Amino acid sequence: QLYGAARPNSAGCDLSDEATLGTLAQALHRSRAAPVAAHALLAAPHRPSGPLRTVRNPGELDDTVGHIHEAGADDVADALAVAQRAAASWAATPASERAACLRRAADALQADLPAFVALLMREAGKTAANAVAEVREAIDFLRFDAAQITDTHWPADAAPLGPVACISPWNFPLAIFTGQIAAALAAGNPVLAKPAEQTPLVAARMTALLHAAGVPRDVLQLLPGAGETVGAALVADARTAGVLFTGSTEVAKLLQRTLAARVRTGADGRAAPIPLVAETGGQNAMVVDSSALAEQVVQDVLVSAFDSAGQRCSALRVLCLQEDVADHLLAMLRGAMAELRIGPATRLSTDVGPVIDAAARDAIVAHIEAMRARGCRVWQASLPPEAGRGTYVAPTLIELDGLALPEREVFGPVLHVVRWRRGELDALVAAIHATGYGLTFGVHSRIDETIDRLTQRVHAGNHYVNRNMVGAVVGVQPFGGEGLSGTGPKAGGPLLLYRLLADPPADTVQ
Ligand code: GLU
Repeated sequence: QLYGAARPNSAGCDLSDEATLGTLAQALHRSRAAPVAAHALLAAPHRPSGPLRTVRNPGELDDTVGHIHEAGADDVADALAVAQRAAASWAATPASERAACLRRAADALQADLPAFVALLMREAGKTAANAVAEVREAIDFLRFDAAQITDTHWPADAAPLGPVACISPWNFPLAIFTGQIAAALAAGNPVLAKPAEQTPLVAARMTALLHAAGVPRDVLQLLPGAGETVGAALVADARTAGVLFTGSTEVAKLLQRTLAARVRTGADGRAAPIPLVAETGGQNAMVVDSSALAEQVVQDVLVSAFDSAGQRCSALRVLCLQEDVADHLLAMLRGAMAELRIGPATRLSTDVGPVIDAAARDAIVAHIEAMRARGCRVWQASLPPEAGRGTYVAPTLIELDGLALPEREVFGPVLHVVRWRRGELDALVAAIHATGYGLTFGVHSRIDETIDRLTQRVHAGNHYVNRNMVGAVVGVQPFGGEGLSGTGPKAGGPLLLYRLLADPPADTVQ
């Protein structure tokens, strides 16, 4: 009932088709020829009060993608006043009209796919395949949320929360940015969108597209800027009635503390908490036993750990190999890693692009060196000479001693390996739980009993059996974790929109 009628996901485009590749190459050429000049998109026309930021391509630092004139703390207060005034009319706009805006945006995004792919490659260092997948996911979110308020038993009298802050990450600067906004808008709330500092340009282009699709400018405002200023001001303001956040566990805790100090007036007039939907990090494990198909394991590990240069919260961080097959699998994995094409994402054949910026690279490299100094065995693929032009980290394997998993998430192409012996599966599950995270979990085995035992015991939002463990599909695999990994409700699932109402029906509360 909650999902509504069958609804196809976006087809994206075919990267094996010559004509498509030609179109993408042309879009890239056009994108390079015209640096973007973007700014905060506030409904009240005035100059944003924040600084000017230059955005460079992380894979080719001499390539300037554009500039963004950021919002400042004053703009946040003005934007919230505007949003509060706009709340009643957006809430009173029929669901069919709100959905029509989202569907028009989905169609426009599909039509503009090459330009968005080019921008994602240059601003976020996304490979062609990742960029196309990201555009598809954004389209899916728009259509999924539109369908939920028109094709399911969406309550006609649903009262929205009011102004919702959408704080999104750089690793999915289009898909998660759009997914948060679509959910808040569909539920009838005005939105203040704060994109990540590193990726404001794709956010500005998408915001303009949503405005052109019919979302009023006072219902969706874009506030690019630093988390410490713009993000903090948004969350601290008494007019913000709900927060959607994807990013680090540390920042989520900070937001939770700020919001815990405030209440809103609930639908029945009583004080109610300000909802925070946070999707954060993971210390995601995959358990492989000696019955698993080696070639399949290697293929799925490569994608899970190194696709997007490991910059997904769903990415595989700790590969747990049964001792009897560990040496064999690691030899195959090193061979496959040596074949990965590492380089600028703008080259259509690249498998692994750059990490997002120098600070990210330095933190990842510091972790690798600390593990080496601790005596861990480290193996790295080699970087091509051109890697000096950007912020790259070579795909890396780190062998750990014993079953203990690392405490902190390392957000890059670094895969830790632990070895386990027969009889140690329960201890391994305990070690996975000891991290406190619970986002994704993978198992590779041909023994049903092992699969059942692990999937029943491991607490994680998304379980993947005999496949890779990234790229959850909207509406098919709702995505989100538990424990330190997030609050739920999951993205791309039927419960999120209800959380964005003033008084969610009891059977939609997890
Ligand atoms: N939904 C993405 C996936 O399934 C990950 C989202 C994230 O990294 O925040 O791979």
